[in-house]
Amino acid sequence: MGLRVYNTLTRAKEEFVPLRGRRVHMFVCGLTPYDHTHLGHAKTYVAFDVVARYLRHKGYSVFYLENVTDVDDHIVDAMKARNLSREDVIRPFWEEYLETMDALNVTSVNLFANATDYIHEIVEQIQGLIATNHAYAVGGDVYFAVDTFDGWGKLSGQKTEELLPGARVEVDAKKRNPADFALWKSQKPGEPAWDSPWGKGRPGWHIEDTAITIARFGPQYDIHGGATELMFPHHEAEIAQAESFTGKRPFVKYWLHTGLLNIKGEKMSKSLGNFWALRDALAQYDGEVLRFFLVYAHYRSPIDFSQESLDEAKASYARLAETIANVAAERRLAPPSGPDDPTLRAAAKNARVRFEVAMDDDFNTREALAAVFDFANTVNKTLGRVGKEALEDVDAAFERFGGVLGLWRRRGSSRDDLAEGLVSALVQLREDARARKDFAVSDRIRDVLAAHGIALQDTKTGVRWKRR
Ligand SMILES: [Zn+2]
Repeated sequence: MGLRVYNTLTRAKEEFVPLRGRRVHMFVCGLTPYDHTHLGHAKTYVAFDVVARYLRHKGYSVFYLENVTDVDDHIVDAMKARNLSREDVIRPFWEEYLETMDALNVTSVNLFANATDYIHEIVEQIQGLIATNHAYAVGGDVYFAVDTFDGWGKLSGQKTEELLPGARVEVDAKKRNPADFALWKSQKPGEPAWDSPWGKGRPGWHIEDTAITIARFGPQYDIHGGATELMFPHHEAEIAQAESFTGKRPFVKYWLHTGLLNIKGEKMSKSLGNFWALRDALAQYDGEVLRFFLVYAHYRSPIDFSQESLDEAKASYARLAETIANVAAERRLAPPSGPDDPTLRAAAKNARVRFEVAMDDDFNTREALAAVFDFANTVNKTLGRVGKEALEDVDAAFERFGGVLGLWRRRGSSRDDLAEGLVSALVQLREDARARKDFAVSDRIRDVLAAHGIALQDTKTGVRWKRR
């Protein structure tokens, strides 16, 4: 059984078969750096970080491309409101994004592509769309004509913007169909602009993604990811542009969408006043805890966020982390083999199989973590009666799971290794002292360790230690 992924385009789980052998081209809609990175962003970027990690774990060569919307209405509005240059609006938020992603161990992106570095490709695509009558220029603006594309609506099942009751439709007289969208926007006073055959202006939001991906990946690629709320019109527009421009279908083979992050049943957003900036969350919770909280749900499921659910995640994660730390400590003192080795080896094998089966089922991290928890229970029950070699197996299993999920990365950090090496050496010195009946020294070592939160326990197979 291989990997199966849920494809929004076909509304079905499909066997994952990349277009070019073992190579995978993956693109995810990136940030518009005009405001703080929030928890909703974190949910999406952690999800696709896990997707890339798991594909690499399975032996695929993944190129993960993410755009940066470094010019659009939001940025232009922020420039005007705060009287700043485009660069000065972007810089602090972009730096904050990189810092917060680092804290969440989101490390899989191969290339961040700025929209403004692809103006040439954007203009070229718009010219191609005008030449084939899929787009039209009105004054200095250019629009895509949705009526010229028979696939319009095939991704989302939607053809027009859903309006909230009572909302007024702003009719743009320049558009032939109200659903037509801007490919190029003419410059208004004080706005950043680039040269084009239609005069000075800037690209529309949707065209930057297809300009970047067609330049990097060609007319077709494997995975396009993004948040569910981008499905319409943004992703629909990408399909219309790309398939009209290249004549090749499908533009993207697998469309993957992440569920929303809700707060008390409502979407997190600035306008609802329930906005949680990621850096504020990181001031209260360790990045690993936040990441664990996010991966403990399937990426397509919505997450209901609350302080209580985060605190629960923190407690669960601490229990797992303790088991993993105990295994590392135990390995140094355990005899080569122990009576419960077969039980533990069988549990490790079973956990690896369950983990892969879960991840092969559309990256089901929740089920994968359930396998890890069950495994940790067996480890806790057998610890003290297993040998070094079986514990190395356990450690390797945790390393494999952690590598895919991006968790417990401090498990084997050099600082921990040093601390654990020193503790083990002290424990051994205490054993030597006891062997020569120098109880004054052995008690003193025990007290020093206790003062640093290290508890000692005498067992049949020797002295064990753990952190309190
Ligand atoms: Zn996008």
